[in-house]
Amino acid sequence: DNKIRLGIVGYGNLGKGAVEAIKQSPDMELVAVFTRRNPEALVLNEPGVKVLSIKDAVEYQKDIDVMLLCGGSATDLPEQTPHFASMFNTVDSYDTHAKIPEFYQSVDKVATEHHTTAIISVGWDPGLFSINRVMADAILPNGANYTFWGKGLSQGHSDAVRRVSGVKNGVQYTIPSEQAIEKVRSGSNPELATAEKHLRVCYVVPEEGTDTGAIEQEIKTMPHYFADYETEVHFITEKELKRDHAKAPHGGFVIRGGNTGQDNKQIYEFSLQLDSNPEFTASVLVAYARAAFRLSKEKQYGAKTVYDVTLGQLSPRSAEELRKDFL
Ligand code: NDP
Repeated sequence: DNKIRLGIVGYGNLGKGAVEAIKQSPDMELVAVFTRRNPEALVLNEPGVKVLSIKDAVEYQKDIDVMLLCGGSATDLPEQTPHFASMFNTVDSYDTHAKIPEFYQSVDKVATEHHTTAIISVGWDPGLFSINRVMADAILPNGANYTFWGKGLSQGHSDAVRRVSGVKNGVQYTIPSEQAIEKVRSGSNPELATAEKHLRVCYVVPEEGTDTGAIEQEIKTMPHYFADYETEVHFITEKELKRDHAKAPHGGFVIRGGNTGQDNKQIYEFSLQLDSNPEFTASVLVAYARAAFRLSKEKQYGAKTVYDVTLGQLSPRSAEELRKDFL
């Protein structure tokens, strides 16, 4: 049959989510997962998934239509995307916003030269949020954009909490400020700093016999991480942490308040509430893999972003079906 054949590079949270997402897409099939670690030593979430060394990927150029790059943005993707774009069509979730322009340049050069299609910075932010920021800005030129994140588990801030002395374990959630959201929804287009838009809520398991007051004080005054924010610290048991805080939720809002005509307020809002950030992000990658496959068939080579892909190219449905059922 004519299924789109996918490979996955990197078996972290996103890679595992990609295995799940491919299973829900009848027009796709997973060929193999490629890892830098010893494939035999990996514990699989899923029996029956073929896991190979990343070095073997080069042998699969004829067997894989699109490679989903699931490495980390900090150090993996700046190397892995140009490397794999020289051999495969790719989709990645590079999310270091400030460096996207230079990342685009380096990937575009390789993909153009090797006649591959590389869709970069796909996911929800960057990704679906980016689309909505552009859409709202194009429709309401007289206005302002706001992005709020959360409720979300932040890995970096959780690590910072766990490094505080007397802390046995802990997690940190970033939560949008209700007050700030209400102000934005009222259409008053307020000036808001990031710290005013979010609060930070920590759930901490203390070592036995430690002074929880001192822990709370140290967290709340930690420069860069917490000092500028309204921060809450809650003490819980290890059992409660395992029971209530094992998931990786995330999400947020893109809101634009604009004015049209004499003085009519228009509020544009897009929001996501996600139980699993990696599973959702991987599902977005899989939809864009469909587009990467189609673009490459049309010989549209080079680096692309979500702005270059049409909605129809993402969908498994025909143009007729979309016009009939979704328009
Ligand atoms: P992980 O840290 O779980 O995985 C990154 C890589 O690390 C994997 O590809 C894997 O490579 C390696 N790895 C994973 N687990 C282990 C381990 N136990 N020991 C050693 N190596 C390991 O990151 P995520 O999957 O959670 O996220 C990947 C990226 O996705 C993030 O950096 C983020 O930038 C991006 N992202 C983007 C979003 C968006 O909206 N655009 C949203 C969410 C995430 P290998 O198998 O080769 O060892």
